[in-house]
Amino acid sequence: MVSVTGLAVAELPDRRTTPLRLAEAALASGLGGLSGWLIGLVFGFEMWSASIAGVNGLLSGLFGIYEWRTRRGWLAILLDSTWGLVGTTQALALHVANVFVPRSDYLEAQSYRRNRHVYDRGVRLRGAFALAGGNVISNGGGHVGLVGHSPASDRRRRFVTAHEELHIWQSRIFGPLFQATYLIWMVAGAVAGIIISPFAKGSILSVVETVAYYNNPFEYWAYRRDEHWPPNGADDQIAWGARRRSSTQNHRPH
Ligand SMILES: [Zn+2]
Repeated sequence: MVSVTGLAVAELPDRRTTPLRLAEAALASGLGGLSGWLIGLVFGFEMWSASIAGVNGLLSGLFGIYEWRTRRGWLAILLDSTWGLVGTTQALALHVANVFVPRSDYLEAQSYRRNRHVYDRGVRLRGAFALAGGNVISNGGGHVGLVGHSPASDRRRRFVTAHEELHIWQSRIFGPLFQATYLIWMVAGAVAGIIISPFAKGSILSVVETVAYYNNPFEYWAYRRDEHWPPNGADDQIAWGARRRSSTQNHRPH
């Protein structure tokens, strides 16, 4: 048993009354929508940007994700409503898709006042891999789940905060450059992987995956932050730092 006093404030459940939730939703939607509309006026897409930012504010206010007591929380909603709008569009798409995925399980304890929306399961691209889009983390729990206090779920919660939450902030800070770089790296990396695979020891699939996905600077950064580099699935010879690693150790633990 974990006592309530032993929990961090962020882990406390949402105790707001319904009128308070609705008021926060209205205010966050107004603030987000106005910011989105203003940035949209500059570029001529104010209808799109105001709508996306307004709906994000509404949902995020209802779930109470923004940490209003810190500058980080204000930065999060302002970036989600302006520079990070491409990510926020992906986030809304994930919310909609997760309505149709059975038992996607939105996790209030992982989201409330944490500047992020976390689903235990839901839309995923493959197996246990979590999927971040804007301020949403889908399939955060993978095969393990984020509820409970087993060593595996404790580890998975650390991964969500260290790795996936970093992607949320990469999307906020680098804005559309994040999505563009990620996409270009994936395509160019796949081509480069196919070209170099005849000269590598690993299978073509592993080489392509390592160049196109694991060696993406945004992924490398996230895996390093989670102290999980090189990842188990990455090709030993191709993953960043492989040469340095092979000169200092013969075997790496998996
Ligand atoms: Zn990642």
